[in-house]
Amino acid sequence: MGQNDLYELLGVSRDASASEIKSAYRRLARQYHPDVNPNNPEAEEKFKSISDAYSILSDPQKKARYDQYGATSDSGHADFGDMGGVEDVFNFFFGNMAGGSNARTSQDRHGSDVRYDLEITLTEASKGVTKNIEVERSVSCKDCSGTGAASGSKPEKCSDCKGRGMVTHVQRTPFGQMSTSVPCSACGGVGTFIKNKCTTCKGHKQVLELHTLDVTVPPGIETGSALHYPGHGNAGIGRGQPGDLYVVVQIQANKDFQRNGDELHAQFLINYPDAVLGANASFKGLYGKIDFKIPAGTKPGTKIRIPGHGMPTVHQKSKGPLVLHINIDIPKKVTAEQKELLDKLQMTMSGKKDIENNEDKEEKSFFEGFFKKKK
Ligand SMILES: [Zn+2]
Ligand SMILES: [Zn+2]
Repeated sequence: MGQNDLYELLGVSRDASASEIKSAYRRLARQYHPDVNPNNPEAEEKFKSISDAYSILSDPQKKARYDQYGATSDSGHADFGDMGGVEDVFNFFFGNMAGGSNARTSQDRHGSDVRYDLEITLTEASKGVTKNIEVERSVSCKDCSGTGAASGSKPEKCSDCKGRGMVTHVQRTPFGQMSTSVPCSACGGVGTFIKNKCTTCKGHKQVLELHTLDVTVPPGIETGSALHYPGHGNAGIGRGQPGDLYVVVQIQANKDFQRNGDELHAQFLINYPDAVLGANASFKGLYGKIDFKIPAGTKPGTKIRIPGHGMPTVHQKSKGPLVLHINIDIPKKVTAEQKELLDKLQMTMSGKKDIENNEDKEEKSFFEGFFKKKK
C-alpha cells in the first residue's frame, strides 16, 4: 500500500462523509471484484488496495489515526488483518454467489448473480449508449409454480428427515455420545420429496429463459466497469430473492484513438513546410471536425492539446483533452516541381551548413587520427 493516499485510492475527498466513503468503496469493489475480473492480477491488486483502504477509513478510530499521522503501519499489519467491516460489504454484494451459509437447511435460497460481458466501441463509450441485451438466467418454473412437482401433485414431506432437511446421527464413542447433524441425503437437505416431477423443469423448480433488457451505458465509462441491475439475476428458490445482474463493459480497441482516463490520444501527420512555417489544420475527432493551429517551428513528437475533445468524465459534464502527437510526413516521391523547390531550399540551407561543417570536420579528423593510431 505504501505511500498511496487512502482517500485518493477510493476517489473521495478528505472531508468525505462515512456514507460517501462507503458508496465509493462499493462502486470500486464491484468494479474490481475478482468474481467479475477473473484471471486479472491487476484488478485483484487494486481490489486488495481499495479493501485495505476501506477497512481503515470505515473504522472511526483507524480513520482518526490515519488522518492524524497519515500512516497506516504504526501497528504493523494489524490494521489490515481486521477485515470484518469489509466482509460485511462483500456479503452484501456477492455473498449470494456462494449460496449462503444456511442454504442447505432452508427451502428458501437467494438466487445467484449473473455476469454479462458487453462490448462497446470507443465512440459509444464517449457518448453513452443504450443497448438491448439478452441474458440467460434461471426463473421460477411457471408450470409448477416453482414447486418442481407435476400439476395436481405436491412435494411431499421427506420421511427420512420429517421435513427438517437435516438428520442427526448419534454415535457412541469411548468419550460418550456424540451427535452430529448433516443434511438429509434422501431429499438433498430441502425437507421435501417430489414423487411426480414437473415435466417442464424436471423437478428443478427453475427453467432457463432469455431475459431481454435495455442497459444504459453512461458516457465516459471505463473498460471493466460493471453496471449493476438488482434483481435481474437468477431466480431465488422459495421465498429467496433473485440475484443481481452485473453488466461488465469492455471497450473495443480503436485504430485511431488511444484512451488514457479522460484523455484521447491520436497521431497527426503534417508536412515539412507546415512544421516550419506553421499552418491552420483540421482533425476529425470523435465529436466532429476540429480546427486548430500548428505553430511555426513544430518539431516531430510535439503534443498539441485540444481541451474538451477527449473522453467525458462519468457523472460530470466536462470532457478531457484530445492530445495530438505530431509527426512529420516525409514523402518518398515528389513531383518535378517539388523537387526543384526542394533543391533550391537545400542549396539555401546548405550555405549555412558549411560553417557548421567546418567544426564537425576538425572533430572528425581528430577522431580519425585517434582510431588510426590505435590500429
Ligand atoms: Zn429429507
Ligand atoms: Zn416445473
